[in-house]
Amino acid sequence: MKPDLPESPAPADADARRAVAPVICYPVDTLPRPDLAGLRAARAGAHKTGEVLVPPREARMFRVPAGHFFRIACTKGPQVGDLNLWNAADLSERFYSGKTRALHGTHLSTGDRMWSCLPFLRPMATITDDTLDWYGFDSFGGSVHDVIGTRCDPYTHRLLSGGNYHHCCHSNLTRALAAETGLPLAEAEGHVHDVLNVFMCTGFTRDTGQYFMKASPVRPGDHLEFFAEIDLLAALSACPGGDCSAEHSSDTAACFPLLVETLAPAAPPRGWAPPPRNGYGA
Ligand SMILES: [Zn+2]
Repeated sequence: MKPDLPESPAPADADARRAVAPVICYPVDTLPRPDLAGLRAARAGAHKTGEVLVPPREARMFRVPAGHFFRIACTKGPQVGDLNLWNAADLSERFYSGKTRALHGTHLSTGDRMWSCLPFLRPMATITDDTLDWYGFDSFGGSVHDVIGTRCDPYTHRLLSGGNYHHCCHSNLTRALAAETGLPLAEAEGHVHDVLNVFMCTGFTRDTGQYFMKASPVRPGDHLEFFAEIDLLAALSACPGGDCSAEHSSDTAACFPLLVETLAPAAPPRGWAPPPRNGYGA
């Protein structure tokens, strides 16, 4: 955070330096856009292939073949979910929150992609439907489905409060991945990564630039839907923060299950093919 009383004197042209207009780091004019009409046409004929109910303060795994869809739905009450994605055939290819943020901004919605880490850097999933897209940005600068947070974890909790809490999303995701893959917990933990904060309402305070959260606007019936661009192994944690209106590393908040449904289209979207890994250096 910036000091209230800076130790370094401002130069004579400080105001002029501050007045320089920003430029977008990563203009997306050249970024290939998903064919949403084609994806939605395929979605219209899709049938459900399975569902997973994620209990409060726990995580569950699910698999989605390339070319299929998955939907994360709010069930009984406002609840935030922490989502991790891996290439189902290679855990070293995983969701890259930071570059996704650099490309699409702080909060995702329809048409945005979840990109994989280097050196793969390809779309893992494309958001095809978001019932909370009406929210936009509120007067605090907050919005939903962020890629600016990380995931609640017991180490930061310990650092700040001194306690031991065992159902942070980091721990839930670790246990779920270990159970699914047979990896030892310590090894599985290394594969857990920064998440897409599904339904979470977050931002940065305007005065201090601090990460904030507020009660999620999600309600039962809301959903976020994705198209799997590659074969996916996914983990979703129903955050112990519930709607994240107060705290997120305790059993205090009201928490609710999240429902994941997987759907297969009758035929792959027209013109779609799984994206190859990034071509740099090939
Ligand atoms: Zn959490």
